[in-house]
Amino acid sequence: MGLIPQSFIDELIARADIVEIIGLRVPLKRAGREYKACCPFHGEKTPSFWVSPEKQFYHCFGCGAHGTVLRFLMEHDRMAFPEAVEELAQRLGLEVPHEGGSAASNTKRADEPLYELMGRVAAFYSETLARDARAREYLERRGLERATIEHFGIGYAQSSWNEVLRRFGGTEAERKTLAELGLIIERERGQIREGEHYYDRFRDRVMFPIRDVRGRVIAFGGRIIEQGEPKYLNSPETALFHKGRELYALYETRRARSNLKRLLIVEGYMDAVRLHQAGINYAVATLGTATTPEHFKRIFRLVNEVVFAFDGDKAGRAAAWRALQHALPEAREGREIRFLFLPEGHDPDTLVGEEGREAFEKRLETATLPLSEYLVRELSEQADLTHADGRARFSELARPLFAKVSEGVYRELLLARIAGVIGIAPQRLQELWSATERPARESPAGRGSQSEPEAHSQSATTRSVSQGRARTSAGRGSLVRQAVVRLVRFPAIAQQVTVEERAGLNGCEEPGIELLCALLDDLRERPLQIAAQVIERWADKPGGDVLRKLLQREEIITDAAGAIGELRGALARLEATVAERRLEALEDKSRRMRLEPEELKEFQALMLKKARL
Ligand SMILES: [Zn+2]
Repeated sequence: MGLIPQSFIDELIARADIVEIIGLRVPLKRAGREYKACCPFHGEKTPSFWVSPEKQFYHCFGCGAHGTVLRFLMEHDRMAFPEAVEELAQRLGLEVPHEGGSAASNTKRADEPLYELMGRVAAFYSETLARDARAREYLERRGLERATIEHFGIGYAQSSWNEVLRRFGGTEAERKTLAELGLIIERERGQIREGEHYYDRFRDRVMFPIRDVRGRVIAFGGRIIEQGEPKYLNSPETALFHKGRELYALYETRRARSNLKRLLIVEGYMDAVRLHQAGINYAVATLGTATTPEHFKRIFRLVNEVVFAFDGDKAGRAAAWRALQHALPEAREGREIRFLFLPEGHDPDTLVGEEGREAFEKRLETATLPLSEYLVRELSEQADLTHADGRARFSELARPLFAKVSEGVYRELLLARIAGVIGIAPQRLQELWSATERPARESPAGRGSQSEPEAHSQSATTRSVSQGRARTSAGRGSLVRQAVVRLVRFPAIAQQVTVEERAGLNGCEEPGIELLCALLDDLRERPLQIAAQVIERWADKPGGDVLRKLLQREEIITDAAGAIGELRGALARLEATVAERRLEALEDKSRRMRLEPEELKEFQALMLKKARL
């Protein structure tokens, strides 16, 4: 996907109705110019969640949740940003434009025929299954109900070398597309038979369509019906399909549950399908790959609790260990990552079939290992803890794994656990580990270069626990703040600020002035009408989170007419501070030496100005 142009997001926010979108998900009651409800983000009995149609903004006085309609969709429906944009656009009947990015990304429209073709092939496989008694019997034997087969769009690829090729590959262009989608494979030279340069990839297999978040078929997983190799065959990586990113049955899971809390991650399609059929409709499958860091990013955008279910055999344990390694960077307080190891010879598919939903879910509650315990258990098996040598080895094995965990409470707890196993104090272990470490990383300056008016960034607060650094700004900062708040609240007033008023800020050194100037310049150049547009345009810029918080808290300004007056007042006083500073500097200099003629002129002008104020 290319970038979504900012102008489109501006337009989206201007046209979307936050009351309507939130109202579909939360029962809103009118209260004056705003709407209120019990907050969907924290449990409460009396409403403290407010939606302002005028600001196109929501905020909760109870838990502090706040944002634009896009943020609401991301937080409430657990959508990624592009998905939220897509959702809003669809509702408004707009097409999301994409710009930039790689060649393959700038092709939203060019991709359409590919999705369409995948859909037609999936439908064809489904029809084939309906006509093929042997394949249907096979699925029945595996315990799949008809409704499940339909729900997942499961189909069958005949035992033929050219069924899909002939049906969908009438022209060379079509054959090329089929090959690009991984549905047919080009023959080697010398193996061309009966003039056919291609053959079907999937033959005599049960076909599981893999869908994206919007439900479009992007790939297939095929399982051989009887004996044969390979048992499972996936679509290759294509323009539509990136294995390391997709999870099978995620689309179905999200449709089944609006309040998703936990994901169960299994290895096979059949496992996921059988679990859904048994009522465990939060099961997803990785696609024959280990769980990747990208998977984890997606998963933790959706839920805070993940349970992996692996077969008890050697392959299952190897897969679990890889999953643990990729999970470590995502482990932190508030997230739960657990591992369920099934009895030898069982997989989730057969087990849930035998014992049913309740018993299986009971295992999820009682028979799982938290990530930290699994880690300790595995390493203990590689190091004999009864000897000092073994404990030293344990420490060395644990160290690179521990290094993957990010700073925070979870990291501290894990350190304590590992230290406990070795039998030394956590602090001592940390010292030993860091004694041989490379020099400390550079300080996380990042976005911090811009000083922020009364920054209350939450991440900054949590970080300061370990970093011990806090930024304070007070006094004059409030002038900057007043100006910024008015601009965010009524962005259109930036148009009324004159060139002279803007120039008055040059040379100003108040805290947060960079943000004010950047905001003012941006709004003068590319005008916006409502607060929520500003918030979205600044979401990824330095100071974006400050703007959001300011908008949430400031309630006293009522109308644009008042706001422009107050903005002018603040700008004038800021200008005066610049003049005052300059005056002080010149006065100071004049006491020590003669002023240049230019400086003297400036000094007199400043004195005059001061007298007039
Ligand atoms: Zn709340």
